[in-house]
Amino acid sequence: MNSAADQVMKASKNPVEPEKEAENAIVDLRSAIECLKQTPGQLLVCNEPVDPNAELAGVYRRVGAGTPVEPPTKEGPAMLFENVQGYDIPVITGVLASRKRVAQLLGTEPEQLPHHLLKALESPVSAEMTSDPNPPCQEVVHDKGIDIMKLLPAPTNTPLDAGPYFTMGLIRAEDPETGEADVTIHRLCVQGKDRLSVYFVPGRHIDQFRIKAEKAGKPLPVSINIGLDPAIYLAACFEPPTTPLGFDELSIAGGLRKRAVELTPCVSVKAKSLALAEIVLEGEILPDERIREDIQSNTGFAMPEFPGYLGPAKKDLPVIRIKAVTHRRNPIMQTIVGPGLEHTSLAGIPTEASILRLVETGMPGKLLNVYAHEAGGGKYLAVLQFQKSSAADEGRQRQAALMAFAAFSELKHVILVDEDVDIFDTNDVLWAMTTRYQGDVSTVFIPGVRCHPLDPSQTPQFSPSIRESGVSCKTIFDCTVPYHLKGEFKRAPFADMDLERFLKNSVDPAV
Ligand code: MN
Repeated sequence: MNSAADQVMKASKNPVEPEKEAENAIVDLRSAIECLKQTPGQLLVCNEPVDPNAELAGVYRRVGAGTPVEPPTKEGPAMLFENVQGYDIPVITGVLASRKRVAQLLGTEPEQLPHHLLKALESPVSAEMTSDPNPPCQEVVHDKGIDIMKLLPAPTNTPLDAGPYFTMGLIRAEDPETGEADVTIHRLCVQGKDRLSVYFVPGRHIDQFRIKAEKAGKPLPVSINIGLDPAIYLAACFEPPTTPLGFDELSIAGGLRKRAVELTPCVSVKAKSLALAEIVLEGEILPDERIREDIQSNTGFAMPEFPGYLGPAKKDLPVIRIKAVTHRRNPIMQTIVGPGLEHTSLAGIPTEASILRLVETGMPGKLLNVYAHEAGGGKYLAVLQFQKSSAADEGRQRQAALMAFAAFSELKHVILVDEDVDIFDTNDVLWAMTTRYQGDVSTVFIPGVRCHPLDPSQTPQFSPSIRESGVSCKTIFDCTVPYHLKGEFKRAPFADMDLERFLKNSVDPAV
C-alpha cells in the first residue's frame, strides 16, 4: 500500500454501535459486508492472487456479473478479493449485483424495492456534518507526493480499457453559485500520479457546476468517495425530473436509513467528504484543461458501458487534480465491472421508483409494480404491471407507459402486463407477449424521440428513419388482455397447496 512514514495516523473513533433494526444496522460498506457474511450464497471471499488489470473483472464476469455481460454469466454472490497483486488493499465487487441482495441490505423484499425507495424519496433526511473531529475516512491521510496508482488498486475491466478506473467513485460537489450539493457516480480514469479524467454524460448536475466554475475561471473542488453504504450508491442514481438540479440525493439515502448521512470537511480542498467512506480522493476539476481518455493506452476504447458494449474513449475530458487521498485503516476498494446486474440495480431501482411516483400521481392504484429489466441495464427496458379494474381502464395502461417515458427520458421499451403476470420472471413476461399480444395492433411506436447516447442501434446508419444519433423510436409492447376479454384469459386454476407438508416428506434419490 504505502510506507508507514508517509501516513498520518489519526485517532480512531469508537465503532458505531449497531442498532436493532435491519435498516439501521448497516452504516457503511464494512457493516454491509458483515450483513452478507451472515447469509449463505451472498458473498465469496477469495484468497487467490488476482491482477486488478482485467483479471478481477474476468473472474467476476463468470461468478456474478449477469446480463448484459457476454455469456457465460449469471447472478451470483458479491466477491471480495483479499489478495490483489501489488496492493494490500482488498477489492470488493458485485455488492449490489442482485435484487435479492439489495433488498436484504435495505431491509425489504426484492419486489418491494421501488415502493421502498419511493417512501424514502417522500421522507428525505438531509445530510449533516459529523460531530466526530476524527472521522473514519480520514484515519490515514496522504497529502504529499501522491501517486494514486501506488496507493490504490484501480482495476481495468477488459484488456482494451483506456486505463485503470475508479468505477464506484461517488463524486460530491457544490454549486459554485448556490452552494447546493449533488452526488453522482462518474467513471474516473487514472491519468497520472495525481490526475484523473472524468466523464459526464451531457447535462449531469456536477458537470453543470463544473461549467459554472470554469466560466468564472475557477477550479471546482470535489470529493470522490469510494466504499459506501449501498443505500448511498442507490440514492445517488436518481436522476431528473425526480431529483432536479439542486436536490441533494444524499437526503434519499438518509430517508432509506432514517438517519442523516454524515459529512466531514476535506483536509486539502474546500469540499466535504462522506465520513464513513472507505477511501476518499480529494481534488479539483481544473478549468480549461482536457485530456484524451485513452492517452496512455491508445486503445480507442474507454471501458465496458452498461448496455454491454465497450464504449469509445472520449477525446477531451475534464481533468481532476488530486490533492489528498484519505482512507480508513485497512480500507476496502469497491468496484463495478461495468454492465450487468450491479448497474441494473443502481440505475434501475431508482428508475422504478421514479416511474411509480409519476404514474401514481396521475392514476392512483393502477400501476401495481415496475421492473427496470437487466436487459436494458436498468435504463432502457421497463416491465409495468397494470391493473384494469373496469372497462374505463382500457387504454389507460398505454397512458401509464407514456408517463413512464416522461418519468425517465432514457427509457426505450415498455412492456405492459396484467396483474397475474410475474414481472420479475422473464419467462412469464414472454408468455404474456406470446399469448396476449398481436404484433400489428399491440405495438405502439413513438419515433423521433430523444433516447440515450449509449444505445448503438439508434444511428442514421442503422435506419434512415433516425435523423440524428440518439433521437430514435420508443416502443410500447402492450401485452395486457383487452378488458372485455378478461374472462377468456384466466390462467388454469391449479389447487393452492401447503408445500411444506409435502417437501418435508420428499427425498431426492440422487442425493
Ligand atoms: Mn442530481
